[in-house]
Amino acid sequence: MKTSIALLTLLCAASLGAQQPLVGYTPAGAARERDLESAAIKQPSPTTAAANSKELSRETHVAGTPAQARTRDYVIAQMKSWGLETEVRAYDIWMPHPTSVRVARVSPDPKQFAVAEPPIKGDPTSALAQYPTVNGYSGQGDTTADVVYVNYGLIEDYAQLDSMGISVRGKIAIARYGRSFRGIKAREAEKHGAAALLIYSDPQDDGFVVGDVYPDGPMRNSSGVQRGSILNPDGDPSTPGYGSTVGVPRLTPDRMEISHIPVVPISYGNAAELLKYIRGSGAPRGWQGGLAFHYHVGPGPVRARVAVSDDRANKPLKPIFDTFGIVRGSEFPNELVIIGGHRDGWGPGTADNVSGTVSVLEAARAVAEEVKAGARPKRTIIFATWDAEEWGLIGSTEFVEDDSLRLSREAVAYLNQDVAAQGSRFGGGGSPALRPMLRDVARSVPDPNGKGSVYAEWRRAAAVADSAEPAMGDPGGGSDFAGFYNHLGIPIAEWGFGGQGGVYHSQYDDYAWMTKFGDPGFLYHATAGRIATAMVLRLANADVLPYDYVEFARTMRRYLQPIEKSVADRHWSVSTTSLRGAIDHLEREAASFAVARDSVLATGPTRATLAHTNQALMQVERALTRPEGLRTRPWFRSLIYVADENNGYANMPLPSVNEAIRANDERLAKTEVDDLTARFERAAQAVADAKAALRGR
Ligand SMILES: [Zn+2]
Repeated sequence: MKTSIALLTLLCAASLGAQQPLVGYTPAGAARERDLESAAIKQPSPTTAAANSKELSRETHVAGTPAQARTRDYVIAQMKSWGLETEVRAYDIWMPHPTSVRVARVSPDPKQFAVAEPPIKGDPTSALAQYPTVNGYSGQGDTTADVVYVNYGLIEDYAQLDSMGISVRGKIAIARYGRSFRGIKAREAEKHGAAALLIYSDPQDDGFVVGDVYPDGPMRNSSGVQRGSILNPDGDPSTPGYGSTVGVPRLTPDRMEISHIPVVPISYGNAAELLKYIRGSGAPRGWQGGLAFHYHVGPGPVRARVAVSDDRANKPLKPIFDTFGIVRGSEFPNELVIIGGHRDGWGPGTADNVSGTVSVLEAARAVAEEVKAGARPKRTIIFATWDAEEWGLIGSTEFVEDDSLRLSREAVAYLNQDVAAQGSRFGGGGSPALRPMLRDVARSVPDPNGKGSVYAEWRRAAAVADSAEPAMGDPGGGSDFAGFYNHLGIPIAEWGFGGQGGVYHSQYDDYAWMTKFGDPGFLYHATAGRIATAMVLRLANADVLPYDYVEFARTMRRYLQPIEKSVADRHWSVSTTSLRGAIDHLEREAASFAVARDSVLATGPTRATLAHTNQALMQVERALTRPEGLRTRPWFRSLIYVADENNGYANMPLPSVNEAIRANDERLAKTEVDDLTARFERAAQAVADAKAALRGR
């Protein structure tokens, strides 16, 4: 029933975007591309998406396990069956797996907690073997101590504890999930001397306070556990900045940037058994969660025991496998359009990230069909699945580090699919240079429920004013685009369909949950795959790469305002006039380039002209990276966005300058403003070079 509605809307879809000119195409090329895309986006289907989802979700497939090697084989076999050239890259990663975990209340009333997630009736994979409830890269240890409640475990929460005269030194800290990346919670707990950290999912965050809990509803039940890595740097911690290939030198564990205390995620059912016995100070304002008693901070009198051991002494290195399906380009084979999603999970992982893998597979199948029908893309398209993303973006990071020279030279764009479908609410983001193209593609793909295009439904849900566009996300970090964007300055985009859910990193993120709550008809899986199909084809076939540096410059100018205010508030003698001027310069060059591009495309430029133009365009965002990286984190070379080092999830734009302001360092701020100005001038020059190339100069 739902499928036939989807087909009907698909037939109307061709008219949705037909009037829009296609940026970066000659008039004839645009017509061909519209036809090609409207044929290709019919290929992804809810039926194949559901079949692949079921197969890839059949068991827990954590990186480094035999089950995860089976997903590699499945993906490669699928891609081969569609006629794609394939490749597997293996890396050995320092990645200890837990061998045991125990959490107990020692007093009052001793109680050993059941830490695993129990089976649910009607949900077959919930009864299968599951991964231990230990955070990835937890330290080992066996600690018995008083418990202290630290709210979210943020830097400001510890400051509040200090002001109350409460220390976690030698204690077991218990923090709730939310407001920061769990790696930051672990780092702060260890910094303040905690002997162990428990992180629990408060029902206010994604449990019964929000909605009905699984299996009656999509939210987290009292036994649900959010696993997840606490590694703060990206990639294998034993090979920082270079690929984990055979024979490379490795740091010993004492020199790695990893946690040294046990860090264990628990359910709110178990957390309640500790929290309700804590006394001492009542919870400060804002620290009360959703459990049905008043929270206290402690320390104690409740005592707990946390014990974790792993296999680091015997078998710390695990093999991981990235897979690639490759379609060689007919005209510009050395220009690469890459789309990828991570293939590993913490459980069956139907949403995170079988859904992203399925979207990549659907696009690969669609493009393979078009190639068989004779429509080979002009550029090379690479369909990747990454391993060990969940441990710290490891598979994609090792690949990027391993192949950085080629990628810096040849990658046109990276498109990321992480949780592509677990609801119906569209969201997208990435480099501002690719946002207009993503919006345009969203205009050409029908919404699965027949409400016009994905774009129209997105606008309706976002309730934006007529002239405004729906908000889009910035690439700060947190998924596989980081190596491409934050390390190398390759433009990226990402999108997906979200919804309400409380099974993130739980055994219950599985096929039964997805078919009941997330995406019952797999329509949104197929739609994510349709967007993926159109995105890779649009980028691969463009005569002139469809980056929009006008939108990019305008976005950057918005981020300049808070910097100017900070500088003024501090009465610093730091002038941002030239930085503003450089961003204005980039916008002027980009606007004038767009006019020149459209007039040259109308006259039929030569292949050499296009090649030179595109080579220059590819340098724009590369120019906004700095080889020596940020002062705080040299791996992060992009000066446009980074994940906030004090939060891990929050995004910080123009980080070289903003980190200097945060450090309250006037001289550094001046140096960084000057440095960033020079780089924006170089980016503007790259656009000017592209314009000159268009005119054959
Ligand atoms: Zn994910």
